[in-house]
Amino acid sequence: MENFHQLLAGFHHFKQKYFLKERDFFESLEKQQNPKTLVISCCDSRVDPALLLNCKPGELFVIRNVAALVPDVSQVKAPSSVMAAIEYGVKHLNIEHIVVLGHSNCGGIHGLIEPASIASETYIQDWVAIASPALERLKNLTADETHICRTRHCEEGAVLVSLDNLLSYPWIYERVEQGTLKLHALYYDLREGELFRFSPDREDFLPLKRVPGENHLP
Ligand SMILES: [Zn+2]
Repeated sequence: MENFHQLLAGFHHFKQKYFLKERDFFESLEKQQNPKTLVISCCDSRVDPALLLNCKPGELFVIRNVAALVPDVSQVKAPSSVMAAIEYGVKHLNIEHIVVLGHSNCGGIHGLIEPASIASETYIQDWVAIASPALERLKNLTADETHICRTRHCEEGAVLVSLDNLLSYPWIYERVEQGTLKLHALYYDLREGELFRFSPDREDFLPLKRVPGENHLP
């Protein structure tokens, strides 16, 4: 996509290839949406949740921000676009799953680890600081790990920080406790084209098995 005109041509392609060929499907979406899953993903242009998870319009309620972060209830400042979207998804759409999707080579997490790289970018500094507990934890646990390992672990840890932060909102915590809402942590490796899912039992991100029917959200 080299220029804006290509984007407009892209819409015509969408209309011819999808909209006009699947009128019933798109008519069903006109009046309402009923997604079961909310995905919080990074703004990164390489990490498109609908593409990666093979979802059609109407299936995912998507929030994208730098590094796929959710602020703790004590950090959130009004107005908050992130929390307004989560509140709408949880309270209004009654979504059943929240997925936080992190990824490798994340510029936001790079900024957290290398603050000099975002020294003049104050909004980004403030935002990625949400994930600082992940970095602090690593500094305490693994002071001598390589930069590559530190980055990967921080990217994964940031996803878990966001999951923890989701639980700081009573209306999310209550639904999780009741079993009507489930939280999931995913991590996409750009180099390998692999998706990893956090296993609370193993306390690690494990690659998805390639077995049909497995790894669907429970
Ligand atoms: Zn990112």
